Amino acid sequence: MWSADEIASLCYDHFNKLPKRGKPEEGREWTLLAAVLQLTHSPEHKTVHKQIVSLGTGTKCIGKSVMSMNGDILNDSHAEVIARRGCVRYLMEQLYRAVSGQSSAVFQPGTEKGQWMVKPEVSFLFFTSQTPCGDASIFPMNCNEVQPCKFVKETQNKELERRGSKRTADSDLEEHPRIKTRVGHFIFEKSVDGEEQKSTTENKERSQSEDILKRDLHRTGAKCVPDGPTDPLQPGLLYHNTGLLRLKPGRGDSTLSLSCSDKLARWGVLGFQGALLSHYLQKPIYFSAVVVGKCSYSHQAMVRALNTRCAHVTGLPSGFSTHPPKLLQSCLEFTCNHTHTEVQHTHAQGKISPCGAAISWCAVSQQPLDVTANGYKQGVTKNVLGTPKARSLISKVELFHSFLKLVAVTEQTQLPESLCGKELRTYWDYKQAAGPYQQAWTQLQLQAFPLWCRSPRELLLFH
Ligand SMILES: [Zn+2]
Repeated sequence: MWSADEIASLCYDHFNKLPKRGKPEEGREWTLLAAVLQLTHSPEHKTVHKQIVSLGTGTKCIGKSVMSMNGDILNDSHAEVIARRGCVRYLMEQLYRAVSGQSSAVFQPGTEKGQWMVKPEVSFLFFTSQTPCGDASIFPMNCNEVQPCKFVKETQNKELERRGSKRTADSDLEEHPRIKTRVGHFIFEKSVDGEEQKSTTENKERSQSEDILKRDLHRTGAKCVPDGPTDPLQPGLLYHNTGLLRLKPGRGDSTLSLSCSDKLARWGVLGFQGALLSHYLQKPIYFSAVVVGKCSYSHQAMVRALNTRCAHVTGLPSGFSTHPPKLLQSCLEFTCNHTHTEVQHTHAQGKISPCGAAISWCAVSQQPLDVTANGYKQGVTKNVLGTPKARSLISKVELFHSFLKLVAVTEQTQLPESLCGKELRTYWDYKQAAGPYQQAWTQLQLQAFPLWCRSPRELLLFH
């Protein structure tokens, strides 16, 4: 019904058609791209309509010292996060349409009072032009150069060459030995052709230590969260620990934003709709697949980071369940990424750098394009900072206001139970009142992510 390349190509085309504002300067600046696609299945025609409902670019994250108490700054402007927030904005408008009696492409009435469901023919998938930062980005480099283990048979090698860099779950297993990670070291479980299993434990240990010294690791700039295990920062494979929550790097100051790997893992359990929308939804909304563009990629690291870390979580409230997305990679590259920009770059252009702006585009009726820099609308003058003019339309406060408009248009008899008879005022109040969502979040934290740092409450008390 769709392929990873088709999804990637739709996203790149959509990006290319956007106006220049916020895009990187060719050959000097690079950026990252992410998008949410809505798939609408038509069983009678056996077709799937694919629509980009949100697209985001961006590479930056603000430090904790500049976070705002008014919900008016974007803390995290990595493309994945921008794309998710744009999708929430899109869903907010679709729900507004449904609740106010207009047609919606996404929602239909649920079976309980004030509850809505995604139409059965509709599903969502996530695209990102690069491996998400954090845990999914940690994996050994050049796996098939490693000795003495023989990884890939001749025939398999030819098959891999024929398929180019495109990798599926199967080819990934052929290409890499299965690696079982523990804090600080790697243990081989099984090699592809089974030869390693015949070797003695002694040989195995020797090859492991040689392997650790010889091979290097793809690294992530995201640092381990405080109060937990840290990275050994030793040479080769011992540089990082795997499976850990990580914070995004910021400019100078440290951030409170979890890595994109961690956020994607969380959306796989809580859904990506967030607490506010969950008031109106009978079930959370999950991504059915995550597609990554051509880049350094490890299927195993993706599985570990996005799926395995939460797979054991149980005791979730009704409607919630662990929802591991299908993981795929495309062989099409985003031409504004770091690698491509380096190839095009000439000395006369000055130093290569990440683009400071973040673009959000989403399929809404008014002002679909929203370009920001440093968390605020790009190009605003100092004297409008702090006013609505400077805010991004996907900032917390703007999404909250859209939600309040939705509540205001809802007839009293159709109001979700979780919003009835309560004195709710602030953003924090409304989020906390989303009972099942908060219960699911508590279970996820207790069972998988005890060190997840939540935003300080005082930053969420705006209204
Ligand atoms: Zn990221």
